[in-house]
Amino acid sequence: MRNMLREAQRVLETMRSLRRDFHRHPELGMNETRTAEIIARRLQSLGMEVQTGIGGTGVVGLLCGSRGGGKTGGKAGKTVALRADIDALPMQDLKKVDYASENAGVAHSCGHDAHIAIQLGAAEILSGMRDELTGNVKFIFQPSEDTLPGGAVPMIEDGVMDNPPFQAIFTLHLMAHFTDGTVAVKPGNASTSSVSFTLTISGTGGHVGSPHKVVNPVLLAGTVIIATENILPKKIEPGDPMILEFTAIHGGTVGNIVPGEVTLKGSIRVSSPEKRDMMTDYFENMIRGIVEPAGGRYTLLAEHGYPTIYNHPDLIPLWQEAAAKIVGDENVILHDQIIPVGDDAAFFQQKVPGVYWMLGIRNEEKGFIQPLHSPRFDFNEDVLAIGAAVQAQAVVDYFARD
Ligand SMILES: [Zn+2]
Ligand SMILES: [Zn+2]
Repeated sequence: MRNMLREAQRVLETMRSLRRDFHRHPELGMNETRTAEIIARRLQSLGMEVQTGIGGTGVVGLLCGSRGGGKTGGKAGKTVALRADIDALPMQDLKKVDYASENAGVAHSCGHDAHIAIQLGAAEILSGMRDELTGNVKFIFQPSEDTLPGGAVPMIEDGVMDNPPFQAIFTLHLMAHFTDGTVAVKPGNASTSSVSFTLTISGTGGHVGSPHKVVNPVLLAGTVIIATENILPKKIEPGDPMILEFTAIHGGTVGNIVPGEVTLKGSIRVSSPEKRDMMTDYFENMIRGIVEPAGGRYTLLAEHGYPTIYNHPDLIPLWQEAAAKIVGDENVILHDQIIPVGDDAAFFQQKVPGVYWMLGIRNEEKGFIQPLHSPRFDFNEDVLAIGAAVQAQAVVDYFARD
């Protein structure tokens, strides 16, 4: 049996330099043209069939195992997909490192640069074992994970799940909740269901000296924030995630005019689509109860985020065993709490069984403690080898099982 971690360590330096290159040149969702070009070239150099422009800037590589499809590169046997997201975030990189972002206002602060490098590493390992593979591997490089409506749905609409169809999918995400050297998975429902909202509260503007003649939307907005943030979380049982966070407030101009309107933005995150709908209803009822008796009006626009990621029970033991071969049993964590993130990998896992797992990166000694989306987010690049090895091992074990 191959030692997959050793194979991954052999490609670690390649992964590190790829990661740093993507890190220096981050691109926003649906604009990942340079990124996609490098990915495509690399997959071609590994002898894969490559498709570009899938669902926008998505790239797909297909590796046909010789023992599944025959030496001519047929497509017999099962197909497993690996998925990496490739977009960066609209924020400034504040790190003082020589691979810091060179694109002002754009940064790879969600670790997607690592996801790409890891998946290219896994591609290199698996293409080197083509003669041993009894099935095919589809490498999906997906644009725009961090910007709604995401790149997964356009890729699916562009046929990424056909020709050949795949029967399982494995996706990873770096996660500072877990220590460097560990990997984790939450079986079943793994991520929150979310709503992004825009709430506009209208009153009657006027002179600040005549408070009895105006309906002040600033006061109503403040009341809505305090009341809902205090009361709504109590509608969910303790231990079950419930996040209500206001993130923007706009309205008014000067100190002596009561404005006509205030706009608020924010998010609600809970553990299931049912609870999401329930909490959105409570939220709106509370807003109505505050605003309308005071003589104001409101509009609430609620946009659903990505669906909950479902980690299939059929694949969890297989993934656990594969991961244990790389990091040891004691470093494979079965997590019991929903992670408060959204990821459109959920759309793939609605269609085929999949595992969305977390690669630990927290390393206090080296100072890697920043959460995702922080302007100084970084990690110890040695974990790239763990990522690639676990993904490659999961593929090989999947073929071995069937
Ligand atoms: Zn993100
Ligand atoms: Zn991400």
